[in-house]
Amino acid sequence: MSDTSDTTISFSVSHDKDTLQKFIFENAAVRGELVDISVTWREVLSRHEYPTAVKKLLGEMVAATALLSANLKFNGSIVMQIHGDGPVRLLVVECDADLHLRATAKLAPEFAIAEDATLPQLLNAHGKGRFVITLDPLEKVPGQQPYQGVVPLTGDSVAVVIENYMLRSEQLDTKLWLAADDQVARGMLLQKLPHHGGTAEQQALTEEEALETWNRALALGGTLKEEELLSTTIDVLIQRLFWEETIRVFDPMHPAFHCTCTRDKVGNMLKMLGRDEVESVLAEHGSVGVNCDFCGLHYEYDKVDCAQLFTASEPVEAMIHPGESKH
Ligand SMILES: [Zn+2]
Repeated sequence: MSDTSDTTISFSVSHDKDTLQKFIFENAAVRGELVDISVTWREVLSRHEYPTAVKKLLGEMVAATALLSANLKFNGSIVMQIHGDGPVRLLVVECDADLHLRATAKLAPEFAIAEDATLPQLLNAHGKGRFVITLDPLEKVPGQQPYQGVVPLTGDSVAVVIENYMLRSEQLDTKLWLAADDQVARGMLLQKLPHHGGTAEQQALTEEEALETWNRALALGGTLKEEELLSTTIDVLIQRLFWEETIRVFDPMHPAFHCTCTRDKVGNMLKMLGRDEVESVLAEHGSVGVNCDFCGLHYEYDKVDCAQLFTASEPVEAMIHPGESKH
């Protein structure tokens, strides 16, 4: 099984587009993905000034969210959040089925953040950090709420937090390698596929083979270090890691930056804040200004706009996006 070395694994990575490459081990026991997000990542960073340690964590979440989105057979958005109780209050990444994504971080104002600060220091200082995944289907049946999984933050890195979540909630053996700096967010995912079919004997045999492939894939992946992931494009990585394996690659996908904010959504958020709050901002400033935390777009509501918000009769959508805030 493992001596097949006559296949070349190749695809190319474009410099003006980001790439996510799915692959599968030939006996279909393990699937994998590699993602290279640099154009999109620099787009995210161009809108914010984050400390180095925050860039690293948010970039790793960007890579991970793209990997999970591409992995799910689900038409909708994934929102991945880490709520922190330390210097970082919130990291949030949203990604849809076409890998359009946006990301933002909220920091507590009173802390200085060291360059080498770790995830536990930044987000779980008092053990109250939480990891939240929301699956929001594109076409909801009436009354359907997005699915949300909330777990305590267990793990010292973004990769381990997600691996723990996947094992606990999805019963899937998943292994992630993530790395990010101020230029690139890269990641690899390996997942052991659930085993199906055959007679009991075949099943036992192939289950054993499947486990063997999984262990071999893990061992190969285990040689991948953070520095190498940061400095090597994924077309080179797949060759370097799996050249001895028989692997099939699929058509590449292309993550891209896209913000879903609209004037209507911001208006709904103001409605949820309530008339009193909005009127007090109006009284003080003459208008209400809201910046989108993801893309930085500014929305302005004057007296007439605000009056219209509160005379419209349709019910307010119950979902509020975590990153959109009033100022
Ligand atoms: Zn926006």
